Amino acid sequence: NFRWSLAGMTAVVTGGTRGIGHAVVEELAELGAAVHTCSRNEVELNQRLQEWSAKGLAVTGSVCDVTSRPQRQELLEKASSIFNGKLNILINNVGTNIRKPTTEYTAEEYSKLMATNLESSYHLCQLAHPLLKASGVGSIVFISSVAGLVHIFSGSIYGATKGLLFRPTILGEEMNLVFFNFCVPSTGAMNQLAKNLACEWAKDNIRVNSVAPWYIRTSLVEHLLSDKQFLDRLASRTPMERPGEANEVSSLVAFLCLPAASYITGQTISVDGGFTVNGFP
Ligand code: NDP
Repeated sequence: NFRWSLAGMTAVVTGGTRGIGHAVVEELAELGAAVHTCSRNEVELNQRLQEWSAKGLAVTGSVCDVTSRPQRQELLEKASSIFNGKLNILINNVGTNIRKPTTEYTAEEYSKLMATNLESSYHLCQLAHPLLKASGVGSIVFISSVAGLVHIFSGSIYGATKGLLFRPTILGEEMNLVFFNFCVPSTGAMNQLAKNLACEWAKDNIRVNSVAPWYIRTSLVEHLLSDKQFLDRLASRTPMERPGEANEVSSLVAFLCLPAASYITGQTISVDGGFTVNGFP
């Protein structure tokens, strides 16, 4: 059934050697797409490429630091030459974080987070646009974060790159219950960028969505999730009482790229075990 298949499609996934990006590469390739991925570590990249080849998955890769403008250009040129100038899917997955109070961030840390999480995705969208348009059916997915929707003690710069800062509104007090509404105002970075591009590029048949995970077991947050106190705190705040797994995010990312999702664009969808709808614990 072509609605539930990516056969014949081409995809670029940034940061595919570990974590969520790794799961996304596998998910897309298993659904039939030819995937090109990247990371900064050549040894790890080659190892992954060998594993994928052994599994019979059509995955290629090149070394690229997405914070470098010329390297981003090279990445898309490479993908374009492999895929004959046509790209169906771009997954902006690379992202990182430095956690500290706002007053302690240095100018370098600010620039690094902005370049890694936001500028790279923005420029890759610009570079990919002609290829996505040429393919006739395009889909972009940003890996955002619930930190772009609500304040989650993960640092204000990360929150700003992904979406926006915390703005709780107390709707009303009824029967001793306080309802909190975590508003999503119409300004912000990655989630808003997805909305803008969704409207601007709809005429080119390119859909653009953003996926916002809560804590997912990956190398990025291993140090936090191995801390029992942190894990207990997370469980107490999350209705499903656990962090997520990378393949619980990649399944939604893949769905958004399928022909079956052809009328879904401009959305930010959380994968969070209920975290963002949990009002007052
Ligand atoms: P990981 O750190 O586990 O994996 C990141 C991947 O990206 C690796 O393959 C890494 O390889 C690559 N990468 C990192 N920096 C660069 C760079 N500058 N250029 C090219 N490749 C790079 O991260 P996650 O899988 O956890 O995170 C993926 C995305 O999901 C991020 O955007 C993150 O913000 C978001 N997210 C993650 C959550 C979580 O709890 N894990 C929660 C919410 C959002 P290498 O280092 O070798 O370059």
